[in-house]
Amino acid sequence: MTSRRTRERMIRRLEGQGIKSRIVLDTLLATPRHIFVEDAFASRAYDDTALPIGFNQTISQPYTIARMTELLLERRTPEKVLEVGTGSGYQTAVLAQLVKRVYSVERIYPLQQRARRCLQDMGLRNVRLKHSDGAWGWDDYSPFDGVLVTAAPAEVPQALLDQLGRGAVMIVPLGAGREQMLHRITRTETGFEMESIEPVTFVPLVAGTV
Ligand code: SAH
Repeated sequence: MTSRRTRERMIRRLEGQGIKSRIVLDTLLATPRHIFVEDAFASRAYDDTALPIGFNQTISQPYTIARMTELLLERRTPEKVLEVGTGSGYQTAVLAQLVKRVYSVERIYPLQQRARRCLQDMGLRNVRLKHSDGAWGWDDYSPFDGVLVTAAPAEVPQALLDQLGRGAVMIVPLGAGREQMLHRITRTETGFEMESIEPVTFVPLVAGTV
């Protein structure tokens, strides 16, 4: 159920859904999603569905992970990426295999601890995790070449815009309802350009830490 064939099926499905980036597909093939979900759901780890990870949070569905990563890398591969919402750490693990350094912020402490163990089990050493409200970003390491937000704010937090480097892109779901619109925001020499990509469903970005 966690075999290579199961993962290959997931990759073929993602191709059918329109994911084109070979490097993103290969990285998903190489990433053991079953270690990031609760044991009870391991047999469904490669289905195209969001799964519970505790604390009312979910690991995003593989399509969404693939699409956001593809959008982040489309024009150029960023070196330093900020992720807001570590959650299970699966998206973090995918990013860590594709870019030089990943900084990831999570507001729920036990989730962060669990993600840390999974990332260690995978031997990924280019990741830094912080227990904090991600709406503040992580100023110590800014500016970032890329920002990926995996929980939905109603509007983009100002700190995340401030910490985005020139020419860098932010991938962020925006909207207060159950469905949001995925956006790509590019920082140009003079301001910010915003593209709407497609509807997505994320948990809301919540203020404060627990
Ligand atoms: N990328 C994750 C998705 C997890 S769901 C994965 O692949 O598993 C979104 C996560 O964002 C949740 O863990 C939630 O606790 C976290 N989150 C929500 N609001 C946040 C905030 N203000 N700062 C940091 N993390 C936040």
